[in-house]
Amino acid sequence: MASISNIDFPPDIRSLTNEELTRALASVDEKKFRVQQIYQWIWKLGSTTFDDMLNIPGPTREFLKTHFSFHSAKAEIQQKGSDGTVKTGFRLYDGSVIEGVLIPAGGRFTACISSQVGCNLGCKFCATGRLGFTRNLTTGEIFDQVVYLSRLAGTIQRSEPESRAGSVVSHPEPGIGRLLSNIVYMGMGEPFLNYEAVKKSIETITSAESLGMSPQRITVSSIGIPKMIRTMADDRPKYHFALSLHAANDKKRSRIIPFNLHHPLPEIIEALKYYHTKTGKRITIEYILFAGVNDSPADASELALFCRNFPVKINLIEYNAVNETGLSGSGQEAILSFVTFLERRNLVVNVRKSRGKDIQAACGQLSANYKNVNK
Ligand code: SF4
Repeated sequence: MASISNIDFPPDIRSLTNEELTRALASVDEKKFRVQQIYQWIWKLGSTTFDDMLNIPGPTREFLKTHFSFHSAKAEIQQKGSDGTVKTGFRLYDGSVIEGVLIPAGGRFTACISSQVGCNLGCKFCATGRLGFTRNLTTGEIFDQVVYLSRLAGTIQRSEPESRAGSVVSHPEPGIGRLLSNIVYMGMGEPFLNYEAVKKSIETITSAESLGMSPQRITVSSIGIPKMIRTMADDRPKYHFALSLHAANDKKRSRIIPFNLHHPLPEIIEALKYYHTKTGKRITIEYILFAGVNDSPADASELALFCRNFPVKINLIEYNAVNETGLSGSGQEAILSFVTFLERRNLVVNVRKSRGKDIQAACGQLSANYKNVNK
């Protein structure tokens, strides 16, 4: 726990464990049940101010205000695509900007959320990788994105005027977690490099005492860090796991995802076998199709071979082009023959259309532009 004497820069109360909060309250002789009351204000009602906590005695609220704060994410900029995709830039308490995307489709709403400010893994196709790494997000900052995007989904469902950018995330009505059909940890950052906060955020989002969302509707997507795949497997997750593969031979994959040089595919395969043995779960394979790079029949054949190792579902993703990467998305003909090749080998394949093309909805693009405008 951060020192409570550090009043110049009070820590985010949402980063405390229950034990830490209990200890802090014990220092002012407050009763243990207050911890539960405060928990409900924070994680069920989404309060971002101590003044909301009317069932907490005034002196205790003053103590909390003096020693803690809320590092809330503030929705500051928003772009809406012609296909309904809404991208939101959140300003964090330290001035950093992260992105969350809401993707409506057929009455369903998928929220794509960030786990880090930037990323240092440098995948060639990724706008976030070009920003560099600033820091990990806290559980509260991940939670704020979910609450905000849930409320936005509710607003769109009710055809109300959209939530204005600039509003601080607060007060989710009970059951708000049910407004989102799916949450994917596929925004800015590599979730396995911020595993504890990501895990805690999922525990919170799915807790009946918080948003009560089903873990079956949550997917964590990673480029695949073998040690962390095993750690996740040992935690027996109820959520889904997706591997961002993008090439099934090491030479090619290392060109697209330089981190692959440290942990080549045989290591990832072993870790995924361990994951499947431990959890019995099918693995989602994400594969972005880049024209002339990884979309040939030979590439499809390597992918099919890779997928023999465990039960999988393949998501082929159309590329949302990022400037200056030198990469472009495969054409429809190449996509179709790639799909056909895999389906003839009895693999389950979905093609994910690129969403929000006109608002550069690939994560990291808005932040890069916004950073440039505001520096
Ligand atoms: Fe980082 Fe993911 Fe982008 Fe790779 S794809 S640079 S891991 S955010």
